[in-house]
Amino acid sequence: MTKFIDSQYVHDMAQTTNNLYRHGWDERNGGNVSLRLTAEEVGAFSDTDKVLRQIPIAFDASELAGKYYLVTGTGRYFKNMVEFPERDMGLIRINDKGNEVDLMWGFNDGGEPTSEFPSHLMSHISRLKQDPNQRVIMHCHPTNLVAMTFTVPLSSKRFSRTLWKMHPESIVVFPEGVGVIPYMCPGTNEIGEKTAAKMNDFRVVVWPHHGVFAAGDSLDETYGLVETVEKSALIYTTIRAQGGEILQSLTDKDFRDLIKRFDLTANEAFLTPDAQTETVE
Ligand SMILES: [Zn+2]
Repeated sequence: MTKFIDSQYVHDMAQTTNNLYRHGWDERNGGNVSLRLTAEEVGAFSDTDKVLRQIPIAFDASELAGKYYLVTGTGRYFKNMVEFPERDMGLIRINDKGNEVDLMWGFNDGGEPTSEFPSHLMSHISRLKQDPNQRVIMHCHPTNLVAMTFTVPLSSKRFSRTLWKMHPESIVVFPEGVGVIPYMCPGTNEIGEKTAAKMNDFRVVVWPHHGVFAAGDSLDETYGLVETVEKSALIYTTIRAQGGEILQSLTDKDFRDLIKRFDLTANEAFLTPDAQTETVE
């Protein structure tokens, strides 16, 4: 039987975290990713059937009891994941009480899951209710999107419409828009709860002055979602750097055309501007 380290899951996680690092979105130990695996998927390997040790978690995850996650480690650098996957990531199973995880593979130098793991689990719970195929939570620091949180009002509608106006693929890839929460201290259950609540309506939640939490049914889809949001943020930033005056952009009529052409279920509340004069913000 194949060993877990040779699995597609470890390979894909290492590649994805490497891509996040190369984009410049996960400096030092910034960023964290979790990928849900099924019992059948985990059972296909020769070295994933023993509990190596138990690690407490500071959150009641009993709703996810028995579920498996491949997750990046606390304090680990994404630039090292390709070379040291068995050290810098771990495969865990949520125990029956939901207050500990069983380590089945990885973290072989005594490591533990990311400090944002409770926030990941809360978001997994929210997204699983919306999408039974939900697999991935991804946190990273996309530079241009973070920059926008200093200059664009912190409203989900304002952010969503601004990003939609930058490129037609935006409304196609995130027709529900993006959610924005207030600035909060990272690594706490409070930011996890706020993020998970927004995840009921959005797959992308913006953390002002910090980064983004994104959800999806595969690593590629979730990564592509963040890439698309950040591409629009880069276009917005570049426009501002060119002098800031926007002469034309996608219009509400253009949004309607895209919705019709691609049969999208878009966020109706974001499709018309607010009463006050709206520029590109
Ligand atoms: Zn962060």
